[in-house]
Amino acid sequence: MPELSIKTITELLTLLDKGDISSEDIVRDQLAAIASNDAELGAYIWSSEEDAILQAKEADRRRQSGDSAPLLGIPVAVKDVLNVKGQPCTCASRILEGYTAVYDATSIAKLRQAGAVMAGRTNMDEFAMGSTTENSAFKVTKNPADTSRVPGGSSGGSAAAVAGGEAVAALGTDTGGSIRQPASFCGCVGLKPSYGRVSRYGLTAFASSLDQIGPITKTVEDAALLLEAMAGGDPMDSTSLIEPVPAYADRLPDTLAGVKIGLPKEYLGDGLDPEVRAVIEESIKVCEEAGAELVEVSLPHTEYAIATYYVIATAEASANLARFDGVRYGARVAGADPIDMYCRTREAGFGPEVKRRVILGTYVLSSGYYDAYYLRAQKVRTLIRRDFEAAFKQCSVLLSPVTPAPAYKLGEKESDPLQMYLGDIFTVTANLAGICGISVPAGLTAEKLPVGVQFLGPALGEEAVLGAGHVFERAAGRQ
Ligand code: GLN
Repeated sequence: MPELSIKTITELLTLLDKGDISSEDIVRDQLAAIASNDAELGAYIWSSEEDAILQAKEADRRRQSGDSAPLLGIPVAVKDVLNVKGQPCTCASRILEGYTAVYDATSIAKLRQAGAVMAGRTNMDEFAMGSTTENSAFKVTKNPADTSRVPGGSSGGSAAAVAGGEAVAALGTDTGGSIRQPASFCGCVGLKPSYGRVSRYGLTAFASSLDQIGPITKTVEDAALLLEAMAGGDPMDSTSLIEPVPAYADRLPDTLAGVKIGLPKEYLGDGLDPEVRAVIEESIKVCEEAGAELVEVSLPHTEYAIATYYVIATAEASANLARFDGVRYGARVAGADPIDMYCRTREAGFGPEVKRRVILGTYVLSSGYYDAYYLRAQKVRTLIRRDFEAAFKQCSVLLSPVTPAPAYKLGEKESDPLQMYLGDIFTVTANLAGICGISVPAGLTAEKLPVGVQFLGPALGEEAVLGAGHVFERAAGRQ
């Protein structure tokens, strides 16, 4: 049984500061947890004792020489879509099998500066396209709460590693819910920052106008610590926001008194699993008892969100994935001429969901259909953003479910992509609007499956969602 990798970042920092443990102890404990559990859980695509111990020893040296970097010696598991120099970066795709990253993503460089140890690569849906991690070309990841069920996705490996005691904390990416949904399914905290809050440089792009990097952790405070270390403007990403980064973790409140929480009526209507509804209703009560004032709000364009998201995300994906042609990265299948080589490489290298999306995205961008689909989706996106702007005039955060139902069985929805897409209804809107959101464990179903509650905040409203999440997790007795 691991003793250190099940702890929170804050607990470990206290032990490190007291000199009771070293970073090497933590990393060894985490590696032992991976060695004993990961054959069953399948959370990691890659981890290396040699590489992780080297970094841990360096962190221990830094600490001994008086360095007080905020995350010094804390191991962080990284979704296999973020470039960490010298480590593989496959995006769980055959097309990048054998590829080694040649530089650090900005978020990774910042975490390294803060002293964190990059402790392995977590499984994901291929190129982050999916909701179950079943689209990985390499392995199946199981939900630690019930190994017959999916961990969610696309950051399913990160969530399973954190919830299963195989990672102190992890990074995920969220284009339409891929941090918040697996966090909810596995019972951990997942934060999607506002668009531009964290630099995307070094994140292998899926849909560039929607992608964000964020933490998956055991507590809201841990998420705040990781965000603080990663956030900020970056000359390498012109869409990153050059706004000061608050000391998120120091500013967590202990009450919701004076906080207005909006309840979007479209998110609490029909189609919610009764057990999820019960958890959300209970969560609303917890917030009220913690001092929040509740107001009903409306997000009238919610019904168009899935269609809008799947047009925009696939369009951007089709453009972004054009670079995987067998010339520059990873795998190559030889052909009679260059075009034949591109075709063979992409045919062999991409899995069925990626192909489906590249085809759909190419179609909605093609002349004749561009106006009817892509342009129209962009217009609806503006309406969805305005819905949120209007709602945030009445409240500082919104409370909603993360998903309509808890984690389902492995294989259950694999053959029905549309059914799977519909499960993204409460998460894609935040990406379309560029706002932030957090998923916090809120309860369990009768079968002991975790259910999360989502707090959404306006663009750059991370302090508000972290605050609401933190007070909620304490009041609900979850921390
Ligand atoms: N489930 C959504 C999709 O399949 C979201 C993915 C993500 O956020 N990366 O596109």
